[in-house]
Amino acid sequence: MLGYENKFEGFLFERLSSESQEASISIDDGKISIYIDDRVIASELEIANIQDAKNINFVDGRLFVPTDVINSEILERLTNKRENFVRNLEIFTVKKSLILSLILVFFIVGFRASIPHLASFAVRITPQSVEQEIGRNIFKIFEDIELLPTDLPRWKIDAIKQRTKPLFANTNIEIKFKKSGIIGANALAFPGGPIVITDDLVRLLDNEDLIVGVVAHEIAHIKLHHSLNLVYNTMGAGVLATIVFGSNESILEEISAVSINAWAMSLSRKSEMEADLTAVEILNESGMNPRLVLDALRTLFDKTCLGTELENNCGDSGDWMSSHPASIERFEYLENAILKI
Ligand SMILES: [Zn+2]
Repeated sequence: MLGYENKFEGFLFERLSSESQEASISIDDGKISIYIDDRVIASELEIANIQDAKNINFVDGRLFVPTDVINSEILERLTNKRENFVRNLEIFTVKKSLILSLILVFFIVGFRASIPHLASFAVRITPQSVEQEIGRNIFKIFEDIELLPTDLPRWKIDAIKQRTKPLFANTNIEIKFKKSGIIGANALAFPGGPIVITDDLVRLLDNEDLIVGVVAHEIAHIKLHHSLNLVYNTMGAGVLATIVFGSNESILEEISAVSINAWAMSLSRKSEMEADLTAVEILNESGMNPRLVLDALRTLFDKTCLGTELENNCGDSGDWMSSHPASIERFEYLENAILKI
């Protein structure tokens, strides 16, 4: 600690007294003495506090009011404020980083938890034209990566289009037939449309009525805005990843690839149930057999899973069955919904 050799003039108030007398104090190496007429009346005094950066209250109850303002650095040293401040600052740094980490964790957890809410809010305020634009753009990207022109004969496509036509009444959703790579026998619904049916699915079902069932399910996804919701959720996850990892391009590319994959595969179970039940309604309203969704599911299950090692967990292949695993539960709620019509 630096030594100080300072004397200050002022007024001294004895304990509980309102009367003052001229006095002076000396501050020597942090130790304070009080003088009246150059005579020491008290020494090695302890300061209780300093008010208004001026009035010095001593622990013994005396008050000294200096005539001139005492250098603030001296006052700080006297009260050990400076040391306290530095000490507090050090503690605060640890505390501060802890608090900041906690805020960050809560922000990330909170943000992650709020993505679905933000996504459904965004879905509600998205105009149909924007949803369709998003769908068209994603379809184009997906088409470049994964889809090839169809190999199906023209008459087959026309027959399916004719058969599914009533489902598209009052919508401007398009249906597209494409040959697929990794997604196999599949059907996809892009936000606001289009719906893509792969050649493999058409061949696997080998029945236009059953394709009607699958198409009804995909239309239901579009009407319920499930795909748009998923897009917004994926975007939220991308924003979160950018916050956590920074805008590292390779990580973002990785996330995009994973997201596109996930997007094709991972509409939630709840969304699937909603789409199934809405498909039953759509079929019914279109004057078609509401059983077609269930029939399509059962047929796909029988053809791709039954009697194979996938029978108990029919979700490991890269096709419609993997994103739409057939389950007793699914068959049951569909049966119940159909019976209620
Ligand atoms: Zn689905």
